Amino acid sequence: MKIFDSKSSKKINFDPLKEGKVSLYVCGMTVYDSCHIGHLRTFLSFDFIVKSFKALNYDIHYVRNITDVDDKIIAKAKLEKTSPSVISERYIEEMHDDFLSMAMQSPDKEPKVTEHMESIISFIEDLISKKFAYSTKNGDVFFNVESFDKYGELSNRKLKEMISGSRIEVDDSKKNPADFALWKNSSDEYSWESPWGEGRPGWHIECSAMSRDYLGKNFDIHGGGLDLKFPHHENENAQSKCNHDGLFANYWLHTGPLTIDEEKMSKSLGNFITIKDILKKYHPEVIRFYLFSTHYRNPLNFSFGGLDESKKILDKFYDALRKVDTSNVKNVSLAEGVIQSLKDDFNSPKLISFLHKTLDKLNKSLIKNKKESQSMANILISSGEVMGLFQSKPEEYFKFISSEELISEKEIEDLIAQRNLARTEKDFSKSDKIRDDLKAKGISLEDLGDKTSWKRVNLEE
Ligand SMILES: [Zn+2]
Repeated sequence: MKIFDSKSSKKINFDPLKEGKVSLYVCGMTVYDSCHIGHLRTFLSFDFIVKSFKALNYDIHYVRNITDVDDKIIAKAKLEKTSPSVISERYIEEMHDDFLSMAMQSPDKEPKVTEHMESIISFIEDLISKKFAYSTKNGDVFFNVESFDKYGELSNRKLKEMISGSRIEVDDSKKNPADFALWKNSSDEYSWESPWGEGRPGWHIECSAMSRDYLGKNFDIHGGGLDLKFPHHENENAQSKCNHDGLFANYWLHTGPLTIDEEKMSKSLGNFITIKDILKKYHPEVIRFYLFSTHYRNPLNFSFGGLDESKKILDKFYDALRKVDTSNVKNVSLAEGVIQSLKDDFNSPKLISFLHKTLDKLNKSLIKNKKESQSMANILISSGEVMGLFQSKPEEYFKFISSEELISEKEIEDLIAQRNLARTEKDFSKSDKIRDDLKAKGISLEDLGDKTSWKRVNLEE
């Protein structure tokens, strides 16, 4: 089994700490806003990675944290005149809904910062006592980057270059401008007691503490989006290795960036697309098929055209499956083509090309060999499972209606009023057109005297 280790920038053999077991920590959401499609790409990639390990018979322990202490959460709470926990709970619930709609499996543990304050504080105390960190008279605690001679090893940067080329804010209380906060003094309502006074933990320390709580000082894989490699993961790596005699994650996996029109997605550019936005238009499996068509490490320039294209292709798969009785699919052992794709750094495009070859065989067998078509369908369904594909019944898949095609009650009433006006004006071509247009949207009209009632019907009726 080969995986691409982002620290050494090489595809290397995966050799787990315990044979047949995998421990994985992935940095999760900061819960102050809706999840966008960049988040979706990252977490769906890890969903695929987890499912791949399972399909290859590894026993995997998957931890993904929730950052529920953050300045952005506090700022939003102030704006809405509510408490930070109201904001974080709202977006945690929304995230769970989104991920469930995408049929993503839940991590085995989903720790929150607010529930691990003791462990975070004791981690910082240890770093101070071992002289890797220091507190200031303001009640802040910083990590001393010069105390770790390998600082920069993960993101392949040199400390000197970081300082000279950086826009690090000048802070007289820091020993080195690149030192980062482990604890920040504050006395507002979202603060915790600590040996350094009231305050909040810095961002990076939570993952060092929570990964240790659930996976131990040394575990197999640490993952996240590529944008977290520096400074977040670099700093986690420094804290943990200093505190644990050089032990931390053995492998690093980073998912590639997602752009829109070659630009980074951001609210200010107005190109912010949420998971909910695309779920209104596309079946979750279409979204999966589209995202998995690009390898998880490669950059992906998102487009709706690409999603439409993926829908056409997935329709062809389901068209073929519809012609076979898929009601009792037998669990077939994983095809060699699937195993080879997964073992090659979770190569989803390679897996998709295997699916295409299987589809060709299925289509050919549909004409001449009914029995073979059944076994091809079995292979297709069990091969797609690791990507969450072909998990719908074909008839259900084709019934998916984008909610944007749905028409609201008010729109229907307005059109009925227009049609009745046309009828009183004896403009029957107009009134017929309105009735036909509504029918195409699944709305059937019934005239009783001068009253018109309507109902939603199945589009196929
Ligand atoms: Zn993290």
